Amino acid sequence: MGLQQIKDRVEKEAQRVGRSPADVTLIAVSKVQPNARVEAVLQEGHRVFGENRVQEAAGKWPAFKERFDGVELHLIGPLQTNKVRQAIDLFDVIHTLDRPKLAQSLARLMAETGSCPRLFIQVNTGEEDQKAGVHPAEADGFVALCRDLGLPVEGLMCIPPVDEDPSKHFALLAEIARRNDLKGLSMGMSGDFEAAIAAGATHVRVGSAIFGDRDYA
Ligand SMILES: *Cc1c(COP(=O)(O)O)cnc(C)c1O
Repeated sequence: MGLQQIKDRVEKEAQRVGRSPADVTLIAVSKVQPNARVEAVLQEGHRVFGENRVQEAAGKWPAFKERFDGVELHLIGPLQTNKVRQAIDLFDVIHTLDRPKLAQSLARLMAETGSCPRLFIQVNTGEEDQKAGVHPAEADGFVALCRDLGLPVEGLMCIPPVDEDPSKHFALLAEIARRNDLKGLSMGMSGDFEAAIAAGATHVRVGSAIFGDRDYA
């Protein structure tokens, strides 16, 4: 695999379904990957990256950002309220807005600092106990709450259950976004990003297919 191959596949699938490739942002998910692999992808010119832990991102991205201009960093993992301040310094986009307490915390910091990262609301489309995200039935209400707080909600994000056909989850997320007039759809990973693009994804989050397998050892 590798960056260029994945970029080609993203472009091809967008064209196949009659969408503009420019409307699909490829987020290279660099969590757990050795710095040398991340640097290689930066050297190839890619600038949009995703991390799922604030602490890990804080350990490696400030140095990369000094060396490479135009990096855009996306938080794709859970955000604890005590890490919000650190997160808004580091990340341009947060994909995991999933509860009122976090929304209120972001709104407070936005009032204080005058800025806020772009936001996606995570929806637990499979209603899995172990997963974060608002349930589909609560999504409209939560979007409204975030809008009332003035938060810059750009779209929705989901992580489908591993053992199910992801397409129905992508379709459900797209439908919730449509009825709430939200343009952004963060969905699709290494194994299913093409299906996500066919369902309307504006942001695909691809890790191992670009960088190789993650070594958690
Ligand atoms: C790790 C991760 C990804 C990337 O997964 P791959 O299967 O390596 O592409 C995408 N989204 C989220 C939320 C992740 O945590």
